[in-house]
Amino acid sequence: TVGAIALDQTGSMAVGTSTSGLFMKKAGRVGDSPLSGSGYYADSEIGAAAATGLGEDIMKGCMSYEIVRRMAAGATPQAACDQAVYPFVAKLKARYGKVGEFSLIAMNHNGEWGVATNVEFTFSVATADQPAQILIAHPAAEGQTK
Ligand code: ASP
Repeated sequence: TVGAIALDQTGSMAVGTSTSGLFMKKAGRVGDSPLSGSGYYADSEIGAAAATGLGEDIMKGCMSYEIVRRMAAGATPQAACDQAVYPFVAKLKARYGKVGEFSLIAMNHNGEWGVATNVEFTFSVATADQPAQILIAHPAAEGQTK
């Protein structure tokens, strides 16, 4: 999945995802990427988030909405990502013995951003002042901010 979050000069935010789904997926499978709240979510007054990884697991936590909800409650994008992703990954692992890949990006309406992942995850950030830079995120322990 490719996810993108944009904040324009008027303060309007947008989010989008594009995916091929999962390799060898069953016909008719719907992953998280086309589902608002799971694969993506945006509220221009708060922020936006987008996901990539195993849709079946990401959907269980409505991860994109969960991150935006935490930003609405005052968390920075990085804290919202950490608080939403790592405890939920740990919960799924404890309950099912395994967990799929999770990578979430988030940005708030001030243009601050965050990311959380349980794999190595490559992403890009660009601003009006700075051309796109490629960054790599690594998994962090639960509650730990990178
Ligand atoms: N999230 C997508 C899905 O589960 C797959 C992906 O991110 O590669 O359909």
